[in-house]
Amino acid sequence: MKKTNQLYEGKAKKVFETDQPDLLIVSYKDDATAFNGLKKGTILGKGAINNRVTNHLMKLLEKQGVPTHFVEELNDRETVVRRVQIVPLEVIVRNIAAGSLSKRLGLPEGTKLKKTVLEFCYKNDELGDPMVNESHIYAMDLATKEELDTITRLSLKINEILGEYLMENHIELIDFKLEFGRLADGTIVLADEISPDTCRFWDSVTQEKLDKDRFRRDLGGVEDAYQEVLRRLLGE
Ligand code: UDP
Repeated sequence: MKKTNQLYEGKAKKVFETDQPDLLIVSYKDDATAFNGLKKGTILGKGAINNRVTNHLMKLLEKQGVPTHFVEELNDRETVVRRVQIVPLEVIVRNIAAGSLSKRLGLPEGTKLKKTVLEFCYKNDELGDPMVNESHIYAMDLATKEELDTITRLSLKINEILGEYLMENHIELIDFKLEFGRLADGTIVLADEISPDTCRFWDSVTQEKLDKDRFRRDLGGVEDAYQEVLRRLLGE
């Protein structure tokens, strides 16, 4: 597998085309941003950790029947994935109130939610990824009803699988963000990443934060927290 031209460079990853038209190579960076790019920094070793954690969790999900874009880990930072057309939605799944939900609804961080909350945001940096509901999604033709039903069903299933698996490793899954893509034949698959950049992970015993909130909120120990997630999930 050979990288050809760079297709895209985002805040945390680069994406390359390859000699196979339906396969891409994702390369994870150590760059970190928060608050829609306003806060910038570097988290040493983050790229390799996010690559390996994402692939580990994608493989677990695949085994349990969730289709993903994952193909093969190439090295510490790089992974082969299937080419998809990204559905321009960020799907946020919440089990415990934190972050923007706490702010918006006045729920103290750590409040257990009686039912899992699903939120959809329109992926658009210029607009700051505004939250949208089902009718906005159809009105703007962001996804069809059938696609949204699949995305909803898969997101809840992913929450069940990851929540249980992480708890076995003493990590509480507070909330996380997912992105989905369409294969050439229209099949919806999980894409993007699942890592301490995109999830809130709290130590289930001490409630210590093991995720990007350490960077966002200047809590210190950012690298150690990412490393600890890798250690708990991959044993190193
Ligand atoms: N999230 C993300 N990318 C985004 C926005 C949110 O990965 O652009 C993740 C975030 O890490 C958290 C969850 O989605 O695990 C919910 O984030 P929230 O809406 O609370 O926003 P934040 O407080 O992160 O701004």
